[in-house]
Amino acid sequence: MPRRALIAGNWKMHKTAAKAKLLAEQLAAAGQNATDRDILLAPPFTALSAVEEGVRGSGIIVAGQNVCWEEQGAFTGEISPVMLKDLGATAAIVGHSERRQIFGETDTMINRRLRGALHQGLTMVLCIGETLDERESGDTLAILERQVRSGLAEVSSAQMASVVIAYEPVWAIGTGKTATAGQAQDAHGFIRSLVSDLYEKDIGNSVRILYGGSVKPANIDELMAQPDIDGALVGGASLDAESFGRIINYK
Ligand code: PEP
Repeated sequence: MPRRALIAGNWKMHKTAAKAKLLAEQLAAAGQNATDRDILLAPPFTALSAVEEGVRGSGIIVAGQNVCWEEQGAFTGEISPVMLKDLGATAAIVGHSERRQIFGETDTMINRRLRGALHQGLTMVLCIGETLDERESGDTLAILERQVRSGLAEVSSAQMASVVIAYEPVWAIGTGKTATAGQAQDAHGFIRSLVSDLYEKDIGNSVRILYGGSVKPANIDELMAQPDIDGALVGGASLDAESFGRIINYK
């Protein structure tokens, strides 16, 4: 079965609820004819409910940008999977490089987040990717392998149906430097064969792997033409209805 494409927008710490709702409504309209692909929006927690209202009935998936592993408790500043679901989210991102680099999240913590939220039935986007130093030292594949192995530790074969992997080279995030389609394809091919080795070939073949890092209307078509690129995780260009509308409607 061909993999269904997924185009995801990560709005990071942008937009108040009213602005987020307006953009969500515009994107629901822009995506009306893009019925052969999934669209996901990850607004700040404070705008989840407004975005869910804005996209209701459109099929667009609403996601948290992070999620705690526990249902409730003494975890100041965290949001649980149950709370995300309460606001209409059905998915969450974990392991974004900004969480790893700015907030010190470790592979172990990210794996806990992933497993806790999978247990609550959320679809999970696990972000991985190497820094510029790591790429220049020739460590890219070793880093990706470590992040995939630890991110997916104790995730069952059945749970893998709810996992999406996003390859986001850190040097390409918000920098305007996109990995070439060939560099991205090489990394995606490696990740897919690793998932096949860790689970089984069918799971490797069916897991969706998104590319993230300065995706724009001008490069989405070439990226999506690669055999192992199943979608995109878009930051900056997802904040504007025209540019994200064009990305959603890639050829
Ligand atoms: C991201 O934050 O996941 C991202 C890919 O950002 P940008 O598209 O702005 O590079």
